[in-house]
Amino acid sequence: MRLIRGRFAPSPTGEIHLGNAWTALLAWLQVRAAGGTMVLRIEDLDPDRSRQVYIDRLMADMKWLGLDWDEGPDIGGAYAPYCQDERRELYQMALERLTAAGLVYPCYCTRAELAASAPHGSENERVYSGICRYREVDTYRKATKRPALRLAVQPGVIEFDDLHTGHVSQELAREVGDFVVRRSDGVHAYQLAVVVDDAAMGITHVLRGDDLLNSTPRQLLLYRLLGLTAPKFTHVPLLVDLDGHRLSKRQQALSIAVLRANGVKAEAIIGYLAFKARLVDKYQPVKATELIRSFDVTGLPHGQVI
Ligand code: GLU
Repeated sequence: MRLIRGRFAPSPTGEIHLGNAWTALLAWLQVRAAGGTMVLRIEDLDPDRSRQVYIDRLMADMKWLGLDWDEGPDIGGAYAPYCQDERRELYQMALERLTAAGLVYPCYCTRAELAASAPHGSENERVYSGICRYREVDTYRKATKRPALRLAVQPGVIEFDDLHTGHVSQELAREVGDFVVRRSDGVHAYQLAVVVDDAAMGITHVLRGDDLLNSTPRQLLLYRLLGLTAPKFTHVPLLVDLDGHRLSKRQQALSIAVLRANGVKAEAIIGYLAFKARLVDKYQPVKATELIRSFDVTGLPHGQVI
């Protein structure tokens, strides 16, 4: 049997909060329950939004919660996480392969054009109609605007079986359209980087929030076009507040650092998350390691978790 490899892949754009701890704990448990290897990867591709201080705090918060990882550059007896900022060459190489196969084209659309581009009658206003795939781009536009690069998506259905959500299918060309693989500011898109990294790191199991479910078909297409093996996916419901809004980095009160500063114990947070995940019958403080034996992905709740 192949040993499983999983990962937690946060973006360092704010303090981690209960919602991040929720996905981190579940991803960690999926790996630990199978005796696998856990990877921590920092998704810091966006230079405007990523901060080193958040990487440092995230590592401290993970350790404090008892969620460790097994690999990475040695930093004096501990592992540093892998950082996407140091891996841009790999994304560029993948992009060049797609370009050489004739699958990528420059998109010079302005924001206004993008907003107006969704095909008539499309349910999703963010579907890209493919204007730049077909139009002759004039020299003025070429001289004044840096293009984004898009993948030309062929018609067809992408399907997969999610370990929690079940069968998922998406008609990518109609429901998403040609999507960006490198932004106009030169930053490689999340969709491309995540595929290159999960493949390069030998990730067999991806557990993440179901806000990314809609991205997975795009990633599966990239796996296929790049000739890479896709992992198994488990998309878990997000933690939401009483109004049904997902917990976000803006809700400072729920950041792990603030809870910790207010004297909340790591075991209390893990116990709360375990109760929400139905890993235990009643709320009680618990260590993450105590949940490993009883972890069962099929018992996780469906729908939003308040
Ligand atoms: N970096 C993404 C985020 O923080 C997660 C990516 C993933 O798990 O695929 O939302």
